[in-house]
Amino acid sequence: MAVLDICKYPDPVLLKKAKPVKNLDDSLQKLIQDMIETMYQAPGIGLAANQIGKPVRLIVFDVTPKDQDRNPSVLINPEIIEAEGEQTLEEGCLSVPEYYSDVKRSSKVIARGLDLEGRPVEICGEGILATVLQHEIDHLDGILFIDRISALKRALYKKRVQKKLKKQEE
Ligand SMILES: [Zn+2]
Repeated sequence: MAVLDICKYPDPVLLKKAKPVKNLDDSLQKLIQDMIETMYQAPGIGLAANQIGKPVRLIVFDVTPKDQDRNPSVLINPEIIEAEGEQTLEEGCLSVPEYYSDVKRSSKVIARGLDLEGRPVEICGEGILATVLQHEIDHLDGILFIDRISALKRALYKKRVQKKLKKQEE
């Protein structure tokens, strides 16, 4: 297993729609294991494949509390098939470092996709898991959580990033 580099905003791979996974071959299995390791190392509770530069529809996540054993989940070609309710949780993102903001999302979702062996699965998520599923599947559509905050907040964040990039160039 290997820890992969995480792409950061405004890397274009984060802003494009990812393509469906077609082959569940050995290289995909390796990618999944590497993504899980990268997520734990970061540390994060979810990671989408385009965050490590692979524009394919694949997410890993684990919302298990820190004091419990790790329990990683994988969803290949995931989609939200049902969503209800409303909740606002503070979100962050490994691709949007040092920034957190409240985001309003559905409080209960059902996501459908394939598991490691290519079998169809449905994952029902409430609370934090509902937010993680929506956040990670958004990634696959090129949407970041900063796209779901107010335009003013987003503009301020983008300004901050531009300033930082400029400093790095100097
Ligand atoms: Zn994210």
